[in-house]
Amino acid sequence: MSRGYNFSAGPAALPEEVLAEVQAELLEWNGARASVMEVSHRGKAFTAMAEEAEQDLRDLLSVPTGYRVLFLQGGATQHFAQIPMNFARPGQHADYVLTGDWGEKAAKEAAPSVDVNIAASAAASNYDRIPAREDWTLDRSAAYVHITPNETIRGVEFHGIPDVGEVPLVGDVSSTILSRPLDVSRYALLYAGAQKNIGPSGLVVMIVRDDFLERCPARLPRIMNYAEHAAQRSMLNTPNSFGWYLAGRVFKWLKRQGGVEAMAARNRAKAELLYGCIDDSGWYRNPVEPTARSWMNVPFTLPDADLDAAFLAEADAAGLMALKGHRAVGGMRASIYNAMPLAGVEALVDFMRDFARRNG
Ligand SMILES: *Cc1c(COP(=O)(O)O)cnc(C)c1O
Repeated sequence: MSRGYNFSAGPAALPEEVLAEVQAELLEWNGARASVMEVSHRGKAFTAMAEEAEQDLRDLLSVPTGYRVLFLQGGATQHFAQIPMNFARPGQHADYVLTGDWGEKAAKEAAPSVDVNIAASAAASNYDRIPAREDWTLDRSAAYVHITPNETIRGVEFHGIPDVGEVPLVGDVSSTILSRPLDVSRYALLYAGAQKNIGPSGLVVMIVRDDFLERCPARLPRIMNYAEHAAQRSMLNTPNSFGWYLAGRVFKWLKRQGGVEAMAARNRAKAELLYGCIDDSGWYRNPVEPTARSWMNVPFTLPDADLDAAFLAEADAAGLMALKGHRAVGGMRASIYNAMPLAGVEALVDFMRDFARRNG
């Protein structure tokens, strides 16, 4: 076995313990004489597992009553487009707060269905901060306010939930969900592509308030209509059954780790270790304002981009994988989601110090 420490931004590392469990029951799941991928999603065994996964997620995030949990498909990107179709009435506009590339994409995909108002944007400073709340131009008549609580590419994270008054708040939590406690009650809708902190790509988890779902217009095709998905318990059509199962395994693993409070303590320690290494080096650099630095995605640059190739090759040879930064930022990016153990970040920091010593 030669599994390395995988710092990929997504699809990202999964807990090894979970992968081993899946491997052990891949050929025959739960006495079904077949794999979980080969049984009906409407059968008793699968629906019981699916309901348990939902309950485990509800427990982990303390989802209040009055919210539906949906297991959908299409990736977060499809829902960039689908959310305005469901929640904006004709003539309404929607407010988008841009703190990075994913928020930009969400606004672009929304534009054919709703008038998009960019209520705030940190584009002018190259997405290195969260724009001050008092500078946002929110409108009380907006259909909703959309934020990206963690921007995966720039490594910019909200460390609190902004007050947006009575307007429903929508959050794309793809790269931060389950990394720390989350006050679901502050949101009308949360959604996440699974491939960062939950499971395999292609699965989307959505948490949506009942009264918000009442807005979904009947004129939409059923497959696009979230209220229909909720009414059919996410089984309007064949769900991503393997993804749902794997997500359920990850939720059980998280419970065994002590839940999101325990994950938050670990994730904070991992992030502090890595940012400390960068700041103390005087050699590596992270451009994000310290108050907005992400616990999940840590971009950093070397003083000379000509050293990047050597850094990546030597890191890879040392078992530290997928550290190449996003093309929009350059340099490196270490994604340190829930499944990355502290030992992985310690190994990275040791390598970084050694590399700086040899090349600085
Ligand atoms: C990865 C990511 C997405 C895109 O997810 P897809 O499944 O590729 O559509 C959207 N938003 C954020 C914040 C992400 O990190």
